[in-house]
Amino acid sequence: MPTRRTNPRQNTTPCPDCGVPLTRPNPADLPNYPIDGALTKPTPYLRVLALAPAANIDVFDFSHPIPDELGAAITLALDDNDQLRATIGLDPHLNEDLRTDLLAFAIALYTAEPERIDNTPNAALGIPKTRVRAARRGAGHLAYHIAFSCGRKTSSATFDSREL
Ligand SMILES: [Zn+2]
Repeated sequence: MPTRRTNPRQNTTPCPDCGVPLTRPNPADLPNYPIDGALTKPTPYLRVLALAPAANIDVFDFSHPIPDELGAAITLALDDNDQLRATIGLDPHLNEDLRTDLLAFAIALYTAEPERIDNTPNAALGIPKTRVRAARRGAGHLAYHIAFSCGRKTSSATFDSREL
């Protein structure tokens, strides 16, 4: 009988909203997967966090108080080589599940809608920490898939965002 090890795509169901297979890749099944790759990290939060550098994203915890309703913020800037980079700040006082969803959403926003962030007055968006209804497309839906592939099944990784 085939096992998940020999057939990693067995028993994957397609996402009802976009059809992308809902898979949680196991690094042991992936030939040549880097031994310190994102999927090898011990928790969903650390796995999502480990995706950020490859996407040119720096992640940090706010060390100063931020407005109470915010859970995260994202800003864009050009690096020394004129490459677009994003910086995501997270509220360190939130639980890890919420931080995971916020981080996945911020990464998805940058991936899916960088021009939306860039077109704000300060090239920055604040992300309130209250989840909203799960989006069936766009950044919120991409965030759901990022979180899922990193081992977190969330009811929603969709949040509002507002200019900072
Ligand atoms: Zn989907």
